[in-house]
Amino acid sequence: MSIRTRFAPSPTGFLHLGNIRSALFPWAFARHHGGTFILRIEDTDQERSTREAEQAIVDAMAWLGLDYDEGPYYQMQRIDRYRAVLQDMLARGLAYRCYTSPAELEALRTEQMARGEKPRYDGRWRPENAANRRPPDGVAPVYRFRNPDDGVVAWHDAVKGPIEISNGELDDLVIARADLSPTYNFCVVVDDIDMRITHVIRGDDHVNNTPRQINIMRALGAIPPVYAHLPTVLTQTGEKLSKRYGARGILQYRDDGYLREAVVNYLARLGWAHGDDEVFDVDQFVAWFDLDGLTSSPGRFDPDKLKWLNHEHLKRLAPDALAERLAPFLAAAGIGTASGPPVSRVAALLRDRAPTLVDMAEAARYFYQAPPVDRAMLAGQIGPANRKPLDELLGEFKDVDWNRNAIGAAIKGNAARNGLKPAQLMMPLRALVAGTLGTPAIDAVLELVGRDATRARMTAGLMNE
Ligand code: GLU
Repeated sequence: MSIRTRFAPSPTGFLHLGNIRSALFPWAFARHHGGTFILRIEDTDQERSTREAEQAIVDAMAWLGLDYDEGPYYQMQRIDRYRAVLQDMLARGLAYRCYTSPAELEALRTEQMARGEKPRYDGRWRPENAANRRPPDGVAPVYRFRNPDDGVVAWHDAVKGPIEISNGELDDLVIARADLSPTYNFCVVVDDIDMRITHVIRGDDHVNNTPRQINIMRALGAIPPVYAHLPTVLTQTGEKLSKRYGARGILQYRDDGYLREAVVNYLARLGWAHGDDEVFDVDQFVAWFDLDGLTSSPGRFDPDKLKWLNHEHLKRLAPDALAERLAPFLAAAGIGTASGPPVSRVAALLRDRAPTLVDMAEAARYFYQAPPVDRAMLAGQIGPANRKPLDELLGEFKDVDWNRNAIGAAIKGNAARNGLKPAQLMMPLRALVAGTLGTPAIDAVLELVGRDATRARMTAGLMNE
């Protein structure tokens, strides 16, 4: 059997990290098994569905590399199909017209509650119950699925284990409204059948729909897929992840300088594990992914861990690849690189200290632009002991072979001659050339900044001193 999975988002709101796992896991499962991954846009809620939300979904998937083999299918384009299935179900007695008015339903509800029962539709318009009743004039019926009365719906959830619901708990679900518009659970079933979905991997907010969906599916003669319901993602303090509680749109992470590899890696670990493996790339994840690694406890979103993982992935990128990723962030920060050192070398130097591409771009600024002279900082670093040695060093730099080792040797030689510790020259050099005391090894920094820029910045700073 060839594996077929789907991601079936409703384009009604904003897509956060918790939601996109419902795309990542079915995608990985399909890829792992050489199957097919389908994108289905569940847009039947026309009031709330928007083009922007749909575009955000497609863009986020593209960024994360979650490519689909079929679709996007749109439920709104399948309305005729749902109607045809409904007609067929009516003809076969699997569904029926129900004329119960809202007032009647309300009265029924009140009675049931008064008796201490769970409110549910009582099947009064089932054909056998309504044989002698004439449909009221002028009332357009809704369409209900005839749920089995007896027995149980049971399935082995790939995450939650065996689940069993008594049919007595389920009433006859409305599958199409009076205007013939199909309802959510009905569309999902028809689609999952038509699209030959073998594994439904989705958020566990849908677990209550599953027994109803299974019943409709069986009535239609289909074999239900395997279901895997992913536990909800919570915040550190246990709230459901939402816009209100710390959730940001997926693409915000891209814009904030996170790597797709890191986000995929992070999401993968949020509800799935492969032994103790923490840092892995996308191919590794796909090679490892299977449903038995899914965990049933809710994942907790930890922004610090995501940042840590991002840093790990940044460090793993080859310098050229890293430079390519960094380039747009440099441009966005207004840093032109054409006349400066190769970006790959700057990135290789900065990667140990910059957890995101945004941080790295900012840290790279002084390689391409002279920092403003910071008198207070210079005053803290330059005094009677090292002032003259720095002037000398400025002169020595004219003739030093401009490579890291020779620059380092010149600094150390000067310090030894003048009875200083190397740091007494290195720190002021940082202040002068980089405008910050937090730089990588200063000899390596100066090599990349270049002889002329180094000397110009030293001159400017020492003149001001
Ligand atoms: N459209 C549903 C949602 O966005 C998902 C339905 C499903 O996966 O079965 O929550």
